[in-house]
Amino acid sequence: MAAAKEMKKDGAGGASCVSCGACLSVCPAYRASFMERLAPRGKYALLSGVSADIDPDGPLIHETISACLQCGACSAVCSAGVDTCALVRRARSQAGPSSLVRMGLELLDRGPVSGTGLALRLAGRLLSGLSPLLGMVQDKRGLTEELPKGVKGLPRTASGPRTALFVGCVQNYLLQDAAVAVMEFVPWGVEILEGQGCCGLAALSAGMEDMALSQMERNIEAFSDKGFDILLTGCASCASMLKRYPKLLPDGHPMRAKAEALAGRVMEFSSLLAEMARGRLPFSAQGGPRAIQPHGGKNALQVPCHQRYGLGTIEGLKEAASLLGIEFDMELGCCGFGGTFFMRHKGLSETIRQEAIEECHRAGIDTIVTTCSGCLLNWHLAQRTRSGPRPLHLAQYLLNSQNGSHGRG
Ligand code: SF4
Ligand code: SF4
Repeated sequence: MAAAKEMKKDGAGGASCVSCGACLSVCPAYRASFMERLAPRGKYALLSGVSADIDPDGPLIHETISACLQCGACSAVCSAGVDTCALVRRARSQAGPSSLVRMGLELLDRGPVSGTGLALRLAGRLLSGLSPLLGMVQDKRGLTEELPKGVKGLPRTASGPRTALFVGCVQNYLLQDAAVAVMEFVPWGVEILEGQGCCGLAALSAGMEDMALSQMERNIEAFSDKGFDILLTGCASCASMLKRYPKLLPDGHPMRAKAEALAGRVMEFSSLLAEMARGRLPFSAQGGPRAIQPHGGKNALQVPCHQRYGLGTIEGLKEAASLLGIEFDMELGCCGFGGTFFMRHKGLSETIRQEAIEECHRAGIDTIVTTCSGCLLNWHLAQRTRSGPRPLHLAQYLLNSQNGSHGRG
């Protein structure tokens, strides 16, 4: 592969790193490893060919470009405009994914077809390193495959904008309770449409642009011209990807207008909550905002990277929580998952996660609340493999608070 050479030719993101070091303290990969080469500054230096004696096809380059969670924290603080996420994605595209990553993404790419859950379970048995993750695949078909049985048949107790649900891979096959909680929280009803599949973020992050493009096209087709006002999703990462569709489509792509219409209707769950809290949308019919009672115990709000840096809606989430009288005892940042980062750098990934869990233990936190499927999955894995706080999606947490129940998770 010629990743390093290509990065140099490309101008390394259109701006030059001035080695200020501002990105080091926010980069989870650097904070877990303390290796300059894995920091955004180090990646830039390596990939732009400063170290002329580095083999552009060697394992050093592969290890460096895989050690990125695509979190966007570095770009948010970089005054020189270096877009490390894009640099790494381009390098990954030129390098090609590992066979393990390719196999995992091809499984996801099968989308809402019968047998994907079975394929994931089989893969879980074959890949012992991933079995805790894949072993979580439930003994049932994905939500999108349950359509004929009427998953969309939740009671409607209010009128509101016509709303479709973008389920996403993790909530479709692994954490279905989170998707159902999102649906239950919407009193005017939510519909699940056939034809939807992976949002494409995983393939894009791995540098598999062709696969990401076909996934985007599939979703654009599934949700276009169906008469929906809101495309709701319970995953901040999926939401950030869906909103980027118009920018990611190649110039002159025939689906651009449809992609723009779709992106304009995407609403991540906490944004919907903010609109409810501001009184612009009907609140859950079970007593309105006053029915929300503070959850027993101490709770941490974990803000996913794609919520903070991708969607930029963290202030709306906090405003909604404040309007609803919800106070979290602690705020957590990156969970360490990062999709393929978890697969290629399991040790670093677990170091990041464990640091957060120890912080929770010190503060007496018993519940972690989040809005991203990948983060939620990672907290579930922590709970399975070691003792960690109970993970809940924000919708599950609110339903628990509303019902005075601590049981559902
Ligand atoms: S913040 Fe930007 S300019 Fe500063 S070291 Fe990091 S990449 Fe370079
Ligand atoms: S995107 Fe995140 S993990 Fe990747 S280099 Fe930037 S801060 Fe580090």
